[in-house]
Amino acid sequence: MSRPDPDRDSARDRIVALDKRRVWHPYTAMDDYARRVDPLVIVRAEGARLYDADGRSYLDSNSSWWVAALGHGHPRLVAALTAQARAFPHVSLAGVTHAPAAELAEAVCALAPPGLEHVFYSDDGSTAVEVALKLALQYWGQNGRPERQAFVGLAGGFHGETLGCTAVSGVELFRQPFAGALAEVFHVPSPGELGVSLDHACDALAELLARKADRIAAVVLEPVVQGAAGMRIYDPAYLRVARELCDRHDVFLVADEVFTGYGRTGPMWACDHAGVAPDLLCTAKGFSGGMLPMAATLATQRLFEGFHGGAERAFYYGHSFCGNPLGAAVALEVLRIYEDQKVLAGIPAKAERIARCFTALESLPGVAHTRSLGMIGALDLSGAAGYLEQAGWRVFEEARRRGAYLRPLGNVVYVTPPLVIPDDDLDELLGIVSESVTAVAAA
Ligand SMILES: *Cc1c(COP(=O)(O)O)cnc(C)c1O
Repeated sequence: MSRPDPDRDSARDRIVALDKRRVWHPYTAMDDYARRVDPLVIVRAEGARLYDADGRSYLDSNSSWWVAALGHGHPRLVAALTAQARAFPHVSLAGVTHAPAAELAEAVCALAPPGLEHVFYSDDGSTAVEVALKLALQYWGQNGRPERQAFVGLAGGFHGETLGCTAVSGVELFRQPFAGALAEVFHVPSPGELGVSLDHACDALAELLARKADRIAAVVLEPVVQGAAGMRIYDPAYLRVARELCDRHDVFLVADEVFTGYGRTGPMWACDHAGVAPDLLCTAKGFSGGMLPMAATLATQRLFEGFHGGAERAFYYGHSFCGNPLGAAVALEVLRIYEDQKVLAGIPAKAERIARCFTALESLPGVAHTRSLGMIGALDLSGAAGYLEQAGWRVFEEARRRGAYLRPLGNVVYVTPPLVIPDDDLDELLGIVSESVTAVAAA
């Protein structure tokens, strides 16, 4: 504990007071927040640690909402950002280009699953998915299949915040308020759902496409791990079946790798677990090392050429910050760091530590379905109905006292630390997870 310092404490209190008066927080019940929540006030972040205004440090167990794949404040990313800011922070990509955008596109295609050859830039994961949805719709609209206006999504899928993303998402709590205003989407059982077998999920997709393919523009899914649904991990064989069904019915397959890409599950892309290449791939989060909002949608030659043949066939889409040079310069440096620091090669040993920790918690009363893959570990807290939501937050409080920021997803306690978290920080984090879960499960 640090000694009280009245000046610093009053500065902190002032920030919290202003925040509570004005700032509307994401995914937050604001009345409860105003009454009960004592937010962390972060003043600095470095590597896997956040430092608050009270002088305490917290291990960032979820890489700040899954983005800081290379940790916080990586010196090479800071240098790339600073150099680009001095050169030119922003220009449009309309009749203009620049080295960061061009070189990044070349570099990301070189690492992408085969066949993805063109890069459309946008701002974040949601816009990367929105671009994929619009590309699929417009492609069919102007290439002889205008009746293909619906999508297929998976139960529990999460694809972001725009209305298009909300439509294809399958987390009912987030979808329900907007349900009346959404595009048509057929949701199929997910192989990641408890109690849904791989065969059942495959059969359901096969059956739906057999009946409705004529109306479907694309199947949209999170490959191998459904993140927001609670780190639901499924058999990559499902991706091969989905790819084959999409080929058979000539429907596009959209892989939303916003969370799973850039090594989160071990290999560069979760699609790599199955050797599957989608028609459209969405990347964000780790794409810019979590430093600033930047995203891309990768497309095949076929999709690209579907927009040739006259000005009326172009893709009339582009955010103000499309191809932002700061974001592109940082994202390019991210790929160079992956290569120089052999980031992916370092994952298996860390993944094993995570797996060992979560497996060991399986035997605790009140803990179920421990699971892990790559730099993801998760478990469900079970217990009496109504208790569930609170148990996750009790673990959060226990972990906070011990020096880790461990935000739960409902009753799911999980870690998604920076891929480059030093081993001693990882062991400390996993120790805190074990102690905090044990404290709550034993209570
Ligand atoms: C986070 C996420 C998104 C949305 O990304 P934002 O950057 O928050 O807009 C989309 N898809 C998946 C799978 C995600 O995890």
